[in-house]
Amino acid sequence: MIKILVLLVIGFVVWGIVRAYQRSLAKPPASKPPVVEDMVKCAHCGVNLPRSEAIYSGGELFCTPEHKQLGKK
Ligand SMILES: [Zn+2]
Repeated sequence: MIKILVLLVIGFVVWGIVRAYQRSLAKPPASKPPVVEDMVKCAHCGVNLPRSEAIYSGGELFCTPEHKQLGKK
């Protein structure tokens, strides 16, 4: 009789774990939408890059310091 009770308790615990696991699957943590950054074009080579990575000089944007030195094509 004790064995049956122990089995019932184990079964109940396993069932509880499975339920908790399924609940965690059903509700994934809210992920932030990807931030779409403004894309700008290098005035020298025309490559697209995020505005935060661009180098601003004399009214033009460049992808690298080298292109900034080379200037607008
Ligand atoms: Zn460039």
